[in-house]
Amino acid sequence: MVRDIMKDPLFLALPSSPATQADRAAAEDLLDTLRSNAGGCVGMAANMIGVSRRIIAFDNEGSYLLMFNPEIVKRSGPYEAEEGCLSLPGVRRARRYRSIKVRYQNEDFQIRLKTFTGWTAQIIQHEIDHCDGVLI
Ligand SMILES: [Zn+2]
Repeated sequence: MVRDIMKDPLFLALPSSPATQADRAAAEDLLDTLRSNAGGCVGMAANMIGVSRRIIAFDNEGSYLLMFNPEIVKRSGPYEAEEGCLSLPGVRRARRYRSIKVRYQNEDFQIRLKTFTGWTAQIIQHEIDHCDGVLI
């Protein structure tokens, strides 16, 4: 189900709590909402649809990837990026890393460890910031 985009800065500034298997329906809504905003958005965190759980969905080089409880365990290659966000007006600067290793749970809640680089890594960092209540 496509949901409205949350734009309340106070809600978005709250850190999200860990996701559980009970949040699968919300994760499906997140994917639906991301798909319906595909023209202007490459990734979303669950709090952007009003669900304060650590779930992100993003475009992983042409297909959507869903992560539960993602955590960056290694990062390298800092740089300054300029980013936009569906929940915020305008473009803002953010410090990002070219390569990150992420530990997360997949849709079956199995733990995965994967390295991402470049644009995909940047999207993931933006969405994990949302889970921490950090806005660019
Ligand atoms: Zn955002």
